[in-house]
Amino acid sequence: MSSYLVRSAHAHGMHPMRFTSLHFPGAQVWTRDIDLHVQAPVLKTIAQAANLSLGTLRSMTLADLIPARSGEHHACCGQSKWVTSVGMHGRSRTRFGLRYCPACLRADNAFLRPWRLTFTFACRIHHRMLEDHCSTCGAPVVPHRARSVSSICHRCGMLLGGSSESRSSSVVDDALKVQDKFLCFCERDKILVADTLVDTPDFFAGVGLLLTILREKMHSRQGVFDAEDRAVLDSHEALRLSNTAVRLRLFTRTLDIIERWPDEFLRIATATCMTQAAFAHYGSAPPWLADQIKLLPERLRPRYTYRGATLVKRVRQIEEDGGARCRERRARELMAAARKWS
Ligand SMILES: [Zn+2]
Ligand SMILES: [Zn+2]
Repeated sequence: MSSYLVRSAHAHGMHPMRFTSLHFPGAQVWTRDIDLHVQAPVLKTIAQAANLSLGTLRSMTLADLIPARSGEHHACCGQSKWVTSVGMHGRSRTRFGLRYCPACLRADNAFLRPWRLTFTFACRIHHRMLEDHCSTCGAPVVPHRARSVSSICHRCGMLLGGSSESRSSSVVDDALKVQDKFLCFCERDKILVADTLVDTPDFFAGVGLLLTILREKMHSRQGVFDAEDRAVLDSHEALRLSNTAVRLRLFTRTLDIIERWPDEFLRIATATCMTQAAFAHYGSAPPWLADQIKLLPERLRPRYTYRGATLVKRVRQIEEDGGARCRERRARELMAAARKWS
C-alpha cells in the first residue's frame, strides 16, 4: 500500500509526503509502517480518496499474508516474526527491511509485498538476490522520500541496485528453493508434516517456535551445527531485524527439519539438549510440534534451582501479597534458597 501511495503521488507529479498531507490531512501515514499495521481511520480515509474498497486496500498490506492462530496478531505494530523491520524513525527508516529486485523495480516502480517477508531472499524472474540498500551510498530504501520515481535512491539520487550482483547462481537457487516452499505454505489451508495434515496457522506458529529455539541453540551449542550455520553467530537480533544470510540459514535449517519430520527434529533436539521447559518458555506449541516436544526431557536441572534474581522476585511477591503468614512464608523461601545454595 505504501508503494501504491508513492506511485500515485509520482503519477500526479507530487512529492509523496506532500501528496499524503494534501489528500489525507492529519493522517499518520509515513510515521507508521502502514504496510504492516494501518489504523482503521487512515485505511478508511485512503479508501474514500482512492475510491477503493477496504478489502482491496487491506489486500495491499502485509497484515493477512501469514495466517495467524485465533487470538494472535502476527503482523501487529512491527513485532511480527514474518515481516522484516524497516526501523521506523519519524518519517525516515533506519533498517534495511524494505528489499527490492532492481530489474523488477525499474520495470514498474512497485515494491512488492513478498519482498518484506522474512523468508524471501531472491527474485525468481531475474534469478538474483534481492537488494536491501542503495548500492551507491548504502542508505536504506525510503521510497516516500524520493522526489520523482521509486527506483531512485532518496538520499543520493542514483538508480537503486545500479551495480551488478556478484552472488553465485547456486546461492540464488538455494535461496529460491527455501523461499518458494514457504511462500507455497502461506497459500495453503493445510500443510502435510510427515503424515499429519496441519492447519496453516498452527504450522507457522510451530515454525516460529522452531526458529527461535534453533537460533538459541546455534549460539549455545555451536559444536553441533555446520560451518554454514556460523552465519547466525554474529547476530543476536530478532529474525525481523536479521540480515539475509542469517534468515536464509535459519529458514534452510527449519525447512530441513520439517521435511525430515520428526527424525531430524529429535536428532537436533537430543544433540543440543532441547527440553520441554525450554519450549514452554517461548509459548504454547501447536499439537504437531507439542507431540514431539513431549518426547524430550522435561528439564535439565532440578525444578527448584533458580537464580538470585528469581529469588528476589519471589520474595517481593510474598511481601506484596502480605497477610498474616507473610513473614513466615518469606522466611521459608529464604531458608530453602540458603539450603540449595550451601
Ligand atoms: Zn526481479
Ligand atoms: Zn543512495
